[in-house]
Amino acid sequence: MSALGPQPAVLAIALTLLAWLLLRRRARRRAALAEPFPAEWRRLLATSVPLHQRVPAELCRRLERETRELLRRVHFVGCGGLAITDEMRLVIGWQASLLTVNRSGEGFEGLYSVLVYPDEFVVEESIEDEAGVITEGSRALSGQTIETDRIVLSWCDVLASDDADGAYNVVLHEFAHYLDHAFGGARWESWHRVLEREYRALCAAVERDEETLIDPYGAEDPAEFFAVATETFLQLPRELERRHAPLYAELKRFYGLDPARW
Ligand SMILES: [Zn+2]
Repeated sequence: MSALGPQPAVLAIALTLLAWLLLRRRARRRAALAEPFPAEWRRLLATSVPLHQRVPAELCRRLERETRELLRRVHFVGCGGLAITDEMRLVIGWQASLLTVNRSGEGFEGLYSVLVYPDEFVVEESIEDEAGVITEGSRALSGQTIETDRIVLSWCDVLASDDADGAYNVVLHEFAHYLDHAFGGARWESWHRVLEREYRALCAAVERDEETLIDPYGAEDPAEFFAVATETFLQLPRELERRHAPLYAELKRFYGLDPARW
């Protein structure tokens, strides 16, 4: 055995191979992005995603590139007997890409797969109460973000997000959780101050049984608050800006989007 490590020739071959792989990957990516966005895909988006109608043309073109890049990289897996279609990939991929199209660097690079069930799916979980008693149980979910590599969605609930009048959007919700998991933590000072204040205000309103613009589910914890605030930001931007201007301003800065002007 040599104490000198790998032979220089072996090292050179390994480095050449690595460089070749990287170049090939980059070339494939460029080729995929250079292809025009299929007209059929545009039609699918126009009919299946209400948000698609509102996005300005210039942003829409960049969003198409971002969507392509996401669909090229992320694996979509049908679960519970569901066969994944182009429509499913597009409807999910396009809305997810809206969250990152104007964010520099912090996107879904670490996301490995999106699992899609036909309907709500059941997860087994154990909940520990304040006394430390652990209860095993199961819960039906419409979406779930697992660490920073998988997102699980119910297709039925993705389609329910179709309602143009409401804030509900499970795709925006789960992909917002992903960004929060992956890049959460330190942000600018006003971010923490405003989100904390708005979260507490929602909790208080829910406690008083008041009607709220932001989904009361956001009172669960700050992570849920961020996810439902993201839904409201894109689904009901003008109402959010009018009733929660500081929160709107923080989300506008976070996503680099100004949907109230669309
Ligand atoms: Zn959530």
